Amino acid sequence: MKPAEIVARSSHVLLDFDGPVCAVFGAVTDRAIAEELRRKGAGWGLEFPSEVLDTSDPFDVLKFAARVDSQAAVRLEELFRECEVAAVETAPATPGTSDLLRRVRTAGGVITIVSNNSAAAVRSYLQRVGLEDLVHGISARDDAEIQHLKPSPYLLQQVISAGEVQPSAYVMIGDSTSDIEAARAAGTAVIAFANKPGKHERFAALAPDGIVTSMADL
Ligand SMILES: [Mg+2]
Repeated sequence: MKPAEIVARSSHVLLDFDGPVCAVFGAVTDRAIAEELRRKGAGWGLEFPSEVLDTSDPFDVLKFAARVDSQAAVRLEELFRECEVAAVETAPATPGTSDLLRRVRTAGGVITIVSNNSAAAVRSYLQRVGLEDLVHGISARDDAEIQHLKPSPYLLQQVISAGEVQPSAYVMIGDSTSDIEAARAAGTAVIAFANKPGKHERFAALAPDGIVTSMADL
């Protein structure tokens, strides 16, 4: 089945945020935020190992803090949330996605954003671009419990258990291997969005139900 057909036959769409909806760190870089988290964390006494000092991924900084100092992790998560909310003020929209959301809604589909980014940032972005009326729910990070984030199926299962249909009625759309892994663990269909070179090959190895290189293909 073609990816667009999989979406069309699914009554519920679970949509990853960073990538499929917008480039959260497209204007404010993730490296700058990772740097800011390290600066604050160091001020609170965190001693980062070299791999965390080198990373451009704020989630790696947060994961390290969660391992060694739960108090610091809570404060870093709050700071990360503020950075994300600021970043989505200028985050560029992903071409094709607003049309897709409108088509899904017109066909009676239910849309939930499932994101490792903070719920506050997702909400703020949807309001800014006028998409909040198309989205039924947001299942996203709202604390420093990073073990709940994808690739864990937790955020998807929260949505599925609150609904009245089987996991097979859902399709997850995401641009990371962690989206594919989380969807598989939750029992939903999954379409991978290969928005960068090299991703297609990585995704193909995990055998999602479909791979697209543009959201407009859905
Ligand atoms: Mg993503």
